[in-house]
Amino acid sequence: MPRQMTCPACGETEDLSGERTDAGIVIRCGACEAQWARDTPYTCATCGGDDIHMRPQALTQYSRGTQLSIVGLHYIPLCAGCDAAMLARANQQKPVPGQYHSAAARKRRDGGDDAADTLILPR
Ligand SMILES: [Zn+2]
Ligand SMILES: [Zn+2]
Repeated sequence: MPRQMTCPACGETEDLSGERTDAGIVIRCGACEAQWARDTPYTCATCGGDDIHMRPQALTQYSRGTQLSIVGLHYIPLCAGCDAAMLARANQQKPVPGQYHSAAARKRRDGGDDAADTLILPR
């Protein structure tokens, strides 16, 4: 499958620019200012499914100096299975909380099949 870069917010494919940050390369859309990680997975890191939806995440404000820059919405991948609750919330136009780690982007330890055996539930 070709990895064409497409803005998750507006569908722009041309006016995109990469920016190197501490967290890796971030792509910014020149049309709507949305941002997302270039290395966004196209399959879920937890279940391997490919039902991935890009949704906006609320960024905590960087408080460095007094310069206030307009920060576009940052998009993260959500798995329709593993992140179902958060995806439903995002579908109601509520941004994903900044501290939320999507199971699609990073394998969830208390989720997937491999964790089910070792997880000890309190009775
Ligand atoms: Zn865009
Ligand atoms: Zn999943």
